[in-house]
Amino acid sequence: MIENIRENLFRIEIPLPQNPLKALNSYFIQGSERNLLIDTGFNRDECREAMDQAIKEIGFSLENTDIFITHIHSDHSGLAGYLARPGTRVYTGEYTKQGLCDSNSMSYFGDLIKQSGLMEMGLGTDLSIHPGYRFRTIPVSNVTVVQDGDIIQVADFSLQCINTTGHAPDHMCLYDKSHKILFSGDHILGKITPNNTIWGVPWNIKVDYLAEYFKSLDIINNLDIELTLPSHRGTLTNCYERIEELKKHHHNRLNNIMDILGNESMTGAEVASKMKWDINVKSWEQFPLAQKLFAAGEALSHLTHLLFKGAVTNRLQNGVVYYQKA
Ligand SMILES: [Zn+2]
Ligand SMILES: [Zn+2]
Repeated sequence: MIENIRENLFRIEIPLPQNPLKALNSYFIQGSERNLLIDTGFNRDECREAMDQAIKEIGFSLENTDIFITHIHSDHSGLAGYLARPGTRVYTGEYTKQGLCDSNSMSYFGDLIKQSGLMEMGLGTDLSIHPGYRFRTIPVSNVTVVQDGDIIQVADFSLQCINTTGHAPDHMCLYDKSHKILFSGDHILGKITPNNTIWGVPWNIKVDYLAEYFKSLDIINNLDIELTLPSHRGTLTNCYERIEELKKHHHNRLNNIMDILGNESMTGAEVASKMKWDINVKSWEQFPLAQKLFAAGEALSHLTHLLFKGAVTNRLQNGVVYYQKA
């Protein structure tokens, strides 16, 4: 499905089959010399077909189209390698660049499964359960790293790159000051809450990504925005209200996790199994494996935040990390 949002600006809906996100919004800006495509969809048949169809319907050529990838998740970056032509500039942040060029960037996966307590719940270390890995891009050769503040000019859009690390390292939003438009990637979504996770193994976390996420919400809160174009679901006209809701959601989760811990010592996966999730199954046991993984990641990002704040402590026992109140 294609929506003409305004002159030269289109939303292309790319289906994400069997995924709770349902679809990805890819945005296309038609320029006088070069076009820009923002995010792409998974590297799988259904996404490729939808994108090929959109290219035909809008009637543009990949030869003069550059690609902007907001962050490494494969629903955004998966088709970058398939769509890029020899002259295509693929713009993205530094962390994302590494993932686009190197298909082994998840080598810590096995340790993550073990340390988070997921192995004891039956998850193996086989990466193929991870949709991000299964549908990742073929390596991209021509990547242009963008920094916070860089401007990409296309049609009458001056798109300022805004580093909004949190949901992913070096997540980039694009902001057009004169049109008051924000391409928010997965930093701010309307009806669904962006998933947070840790980017490494629980015992060796160096960055509190939830704290980074809060900081990045404040950066967006200070911009003048009338229309927010997120990567999933519908557009937003009041992103400030949504920012408050997202902050509140995470603060509630932090309080909830402190209650769940009580006087016990738990793994990230155990905490996740006791949290409330918006998913259509009756019990934690029925969660699909990939969803268990995302839930544990979300629990661990909050536990890490509490750890950095000094509210909880952790210990490593037989290769598994346990958390308790400080
Ligand atoms: Zn994402
Ligand atoms: Zn996404």
